[in-house]
Amino acid sequence: MRQIDHFLVGDSPASTRKHQVWNPSTGEVQAEVPLGDAALLDRAVATAKQVQPAWAATNPQKRARVMFRFKELIETNMQSLAELLSSEHGKTVDDAKGDVQRGLEVIEYACGIPQVLKGEYTQGAGPGIDVLSIRQPLGIGAGITPFNFPAMIPMWMFGMACAAGNAFILKPSERDPSVPVRLAELFLEAGAPEGLLQVVHGDKEMVDAIIEHPDIPAISFVGSSDIAHYIYHRGAEHHKRVQAFGGAKNHGIVMPDADLDQVVNDLAGAAFGSAGERCMALPVVVPVGEDTAERLREKLLPAIAALRIGVSTDPDAHYGPVVTPEHKARIEQWITTAEEEGGEIVVDGRGYTLQGHEKGFFVGPTLIDHVTPKMTSYQEEIFGPVLQIVRAKDFEEAVRLPSEHQYGNGVAIFTRNGHAAREFAARVNVGMVGVNVPIPVPVSYHSFGGWKRSGFGDIDQYGTEGLAFWTKKKKITQRWPDGSADDGNAFIIPTMG
Ligand code: NAD
Repeated sequence: MRQIDHFLVGDSPASTRKHQVWNPSTGEVQAEVPLGDAALLDRAVATAKQVQPAWAATNPQKRARVMFRFKELIETNMQSLAELLSSEHGKTVDDAKGDVQRGLEVIEYACGIPQVLKGEYTQGAGPGIDVLSIRQPLGIGAGITPFNFPAMIPMWMFGMACAAGNAFILKPSERDPSVPVRLAELFLEAGAPEGLLQVVHGDKEMVDAIIEHPDIPAISFVGSSDIAHYIYHRGAEHHKRVQAFGGAKNHGIVMPDADLDQVVNDLAGAAFGSAGERCMALPVVVPVGEDTAERLREKLLPAIAALRIGVSTDPDAHYGPVVTPEHKARIEQWITTAEEEGGEIVVDGRGYTLQGHEKGFFVGPTLIDHVTPKMTSYQEEIFGPVLQIVRAKDFEEAVRLPSEHQYGNGVAIFTRNGHAAREFAARVNVGMVGVNVPIPVPVSYHSFGGWKRSGFGDIDQYGTEGLAFWTKKKKITQRWPDGSADDGNAFIIPTMG
């Protein structure tokens, strides 16, 4: 059995607790990963504390060179990274390349760290007084990441944190932990000091140790909302800076004037791609008006019938298996719940098996119509290849549905009407909006973050927001008196005159 190790300096201690890593396409256990504890974390933190000051003192241009070399190594290793990722996650190899690529784009942004770290300066803010605002690293950052983007999300975090001068401890998902370790190996190969980026595996025990560790000042978390809320809350109790991103239930609004062929094409990818295991998937479609709903449903049926499900290495597959047998059972249970709640199961993906791979964790594409906001299957995240139709009578209802939902990660509107799109984008209570763009993940030089129960904390991932999260801003007001000035009364609050 392949044994996955922590990525530390020196040998890892033997671990008594282990977690099994599946190959979701075959349904077989392919590896074991150790689950670390507080003692292991202590060791990682001690290493990080030794390494970080010299790294922070390395000029930003030299740190950027490491990021440039890392970028090149990722590109060179793209195929093998994608294959490894796909074998543990279950997404297709091409989709896994997208996962790596979207992380790489943040590394590319981080290559510009000298430019974005320059700070602010005002000469002559008062008599002989200059003011500087500079950004300094926090010290040691920690990242706790989900299974569904095992390359992209770690790179979002450590790319920004390390470029800004921090050391980083990554606790990836125990369900697909190999790619994060491989990224750390490549970062070292790129010239990062040994111990700057360490990977500790684990579950709640390790997460709690991170939260409680006095020498870790900041935690970035991405995962499900209850755990995001827990980490946000407990992290604050331990005086940490925390950003915690949670689950999602993104809506796609289809206006009567939308190009339905384009919409169906977009929905097929956004609802079923990666077996629906994306926080920016579109699992809810909201046609506006009964006529739009009927026309859309008619066009969706052949598109769903044409979907090809395959093992993750099948180059023609549109999507592969879901991540674990428990997750397959959970998705199927949600379909049953939707049925019991009164939803019409138009296409039923329960009990799906792929010929020749009967033990794989496959779920067939599922379409559920006449879903209403009262149903728990609408309120909660399913995170599978399940598309729900919620019919809205008019534009106002279509704005209200995503706005009132507990999650507020992404939303999309499909229309040819610029006024409707503009109005929708301005009013909807959701963090990331697409206009005729089904998966509106902002590019690396903007920033990523949802609202409501999709995001706790007020600072986004990557872009200048990521830089703000991983640094603290110091404001320096300075003067160099030559002795000639009359300083006046020193007992009143200083003003700039
Ligand atoms: P998860 O919440 O189960 O796990 C995320 C991380 O938390 C993992 O590292 C895991 O080891 C750890 N963890 C698990 N149980 C814990 C516990 N009880 N206490 C402390 N830590 C614990 O999430 P997942 O299933 O790996 O990922 C899917 C979820 O992540 C979905 O809800 C998805 O919407 C969400 N997600 C959100 C975003 C976003 O940006 N908002 C992006 C990707 C995924």
